[in-house]
Amino acid sequence: MRFLPVRAYFEPQALEYPLGKKIYNQLEDMNVPVRMASSHNRVTGLPGKTAAEAYNEAKKTLVVGVRKTGSFATCKPSAHYQLPLNTSCPSMCEYCYLATTLGKRPYLRIYVNIDEILAKTKKYINEREPEITIFEGAATSDPVPTEYLSGLLYTTIEFFGGQENARFRFVTKHNDIDALLTAKHNSHTRFRFSLNTETVISSYEHATPSLAQRIEAAVKVAQAGYPLGFIIAPIFFAPGWQLDYSRLVTELAAALPALAKKDLTFELITHRFTKRAKLNITEVFPNTRLPLAEEERKYKYGQFGYGKYVYNQETMAELKNIMTERLAESFPAAKVEYFV
Ligand code: SF4
Repeated sequence: MRFLPVRAYFEPQALEYPLGKKIYNQLEDMNVPVRMASSHNRVTGLPGKTAAEAYNEAKKTLVVGVRKTGSFATCKPSAHYQLPLNTSCPSMCEYCYLATTLGKRPYLRIYVNIDEILAKTKKYINEREPEITIFEGAATSDPVPTEYLSGLLYTTIEFFGGQENARFRFVTKHNDIDALLTAKHNSHTRFRFSLNTETVISSYEHATPSLAQRIEAAVKVAQAGYPLGFIIAPIFFAPGWQLDYSRLVTELAAALPALAKKDLTFELITHRFTKRAKLNITEVFPNTRLPLAEEERKYKYGQFGYGKYVYNQETMAELKNIMTERLAESFPAAKVEYFV
């Protein structure tokens, strides 16, 4: 499944970069209407009368801009820093973790000043040497759907391939990854896939590759020698969850080659939501069946200043026990990096 933008906007400065020009020409060849926008942060005039329509249209819109290389945000618990390459994603998961930050107009942004972004990355690496610094490439996006236009992941993977004291990681639900299989990664990039049960995928995800397609892509990535990882998220405490997640783990264990199981990580994230995300979700997906009752949750203060509603302690403990048990049975050599 390949993302085809319906329209694109360019910041004028983006055309001063070779990558900006290349993307512009590609979009012209694809007959995508291109307009100019004064800033990648202020794209106005997108169609859509209702919140749901506006959200849908934004997800079909590509914005190409230049990222100011101010400071990088921190990125707990998966890395030291976020590496800003792009934002958003064309899929329509109702629970999307970007619902809080991107709001109701989640158009897709690509940053073309990659050389400047990587030069800034190098400064962060130098500051912490000889410690290893880890950068996360998917904190504000699923970076794979726009990769065929930008090559940003490929460039970044090869950059980290040449860094002794830094590692890169990103996560995707998408399977358009063949172009990345030949990148010289030097095992310095952990390529992760986000998985969930068939029940969760069919209930809350739209326009995402199937579980089987994601696992198939993960097998290719492992065969290309990348360290592999999986994020299982969001984990829902819902009827049948034990059986559903056990099936997921068994299916994955059956599909992965032995080689991939030697250096494998899991990150486990339970379902949570912020007040702002809930407001956006219920406007954009008015018929959502997501469990969003605040009174059934515990309120937890978060690192970015806004709190979130998480499962209570007892439920968290039960989810953690079962999930880590199942993973230990099927993947004895894998590391569960965190459970939140
Ligand atoms: Fe959000 Fe990831 Fe779904 Fe894209 S694939 S909508 S980034 S949860």
